[in-house]
Amino acid sequence: MNKITCDMCMDLMPLVKDGIASADSKDAVEAHLETCAVCRSLYHGQAPPVVNTEKAFHKLKRQIQIFSVMFMLFGIFFGVNLTAGSNVFYNSLIMPIIGALGYILLRWKALYTIPILLLITHGMTNLLGLIRGQEHLDIYSLLMWTALYSIFALLGMVIAGLLSYAFRKEHSV
Ligand SMILES: [Zn+2]
Repeated sequence: MNKITCDMCMDLMPLVKDGIASADSKDAVEAHLETCAVCRSLYHGQAPPVVNTEKAFHKLKRQIQIFSVMFMLFGIFFGVNLTAGSNVFYNSLIMPIIGALGYILLRWKALYTIPILLLITHGMTNLLGLIRGQEHLDIYSLLMWTALYSIFALLGMVIAGLLSYAFRKEHSV
């Protein structure tokens, strides 16, 4: 095998990293890296692109999570406030989306988190109406609507769960 100098090694490094170097060049660089600590540290010291991609991915994931939480909370608040109106049927679309988001964020913890959130929001809305004197305390309809929305949300959770299961299976094959 031909030995190469440090300068030659440094010239070839980018080609090896990009995977476009010839097999001989790659072997020569690898052989040189084994014997030369300076080139080795240079080779590994240059920030590998993988780290940056991972960081960006984590940042994106975080942003998606924050957005999902906000969307979920807004959706619950919005959906609950539709209850008294004629647009209440939109909740058959909104609640499954909330359920799906809940599953993405919390996995199966969403099973009890979302009903609790729905109950709290319903309770608050009812309480506000009560304070304004527009509503009377109606525990029965409070629980009924919460249960109904929870069922819709559960539907979304199950769909999201099945989809992610199918997706994972496809990737593991
Ligand atoms: Zn060297």
